[in-house]
Amino acid sequence: MIKAVLIEKTEAGHHAALTELADDALPEGDVTVAVSYSTLNYKDALAITGKGPVVRQFPMVPGIDFAGFVETSRHPDFKAGDSVVLNGWGVGESHWGGLAQKARVNGDWLIPLQAPFTAAQAMAIGTAGYTAMLCVLALERQGVTADQGEILVTGAAGGVGSVAVAVLAKLGYRVVASTGRAAEAPYLRSLGASEIIDRATLSAPGKPLARERWAGAIDTVGSHTLANVCAALRYGATVAACGLAQGMDLPLTVAPFILRGVTLAGVDSVYRPIAQRREAWARLARDLDIDKLAAITGTIPLSEVVPAASRMLAGQVRGRLVVDVN
Ligand code: NDP
Repeated sequence: MIKAVLIEKTEAGHHAALTELADDALPEGDVTVAVSYSTLNYKDALAITGKGPVVRQFPMVPGIDFAGFVETSRHPDFKAGDSVVLNGWGVGESHWGGLAQKARVNGDWLIPLQAPFTAAQAMAIGTAGYTAMLCVLALERQGVTADQGEILVTGAAGGVGSVAVAVLAKLGYRVVASTGRAAEAPYLRSLGASEIIDRATLSAPGKPLARERWAGAIDTVGSHTLANVCAALRYGATVAACGLAQGMDLPLTVAPFILRGVTLAGVDSVYRPIAQRREAWARLARDLDIDKLAAITGTIPLSEVVPAASRMLAGQVRGRLVVDVN
């Protein structure tokens, strides 16, 4: 038997709880992984609480990422004992996920654990941190460099935001962190933020164009915040957009695009080709301080996942939550 979080939808409604499953209940797949650690991402919180349409079929084991070692494999690239990591691919949405002691998946979705990270550190980074690095890479691809000016990170005290702040600061950028939690200012400064701004200055409807300020931005929030970020990008600057913590809407005009030539770079982590995943993980190994990673991370057992999901959607989780499934 394996312990797992299971989401069910019955006539009584949406229900998520810790349960025990037989090994043979696991779905089809050519690699079975003994999970060491999983994490709680925003998307997992939406799935577990039922507050977002994340789960495509029920019952579902949530968990969009995990790290562990291969127990059995029929895939040519993996053998028993290999340390592996999975992010995305619809796992935890349409295929049973990582918030369980075992997972059975398609081996094409796995990548080897990136040295020098341990499984716990890889999950401290998790999908949120890997997405933060994809955003940094998107800025770099658009020619954003540290000497151009200030970089804004929104949702800065969250998982994606915390890793983004730490990585950008290490790369020499002057990072401005937007947060709704003034009490987290010392935390954000410890990660390398030069300035903290109140997210309320970005979250209300604004003008089509504002004073040019940001040489680049990473937005995890969407809605009016992203519209206001676009309005205040400097000429030719780029915002990498990956999230919707404020909302899925995007009430903006074309003014920043046609008058300032700015770029809105969308970032998806779920269906990234393997080569780009490996690049992002290799860059995390180079550009994320392990000490800062430790400061970003809290760890909970599988039994605390369901209440933690509600705290996450209420904006009460700082940084990253690793789940020790064993
Ligand atoms: P977290 O919950 O850890 O962080 C989200 C942060 O957003 C919060 O900590 C808070 O930061 C801020 N926030 C919350 N509510 C609001 C609001 N109403 N208005 C403005 N800001 C708000 O989540 P993650 O970091 O894991 O994920 C962030 C976003 O990125 C999510 O929307 C998630 O779905 C998305 N994401 C997308 C991926 C992709 O592939 N595109 C992959 C991973 C994540 P603070 O307290 O500092 O204000």
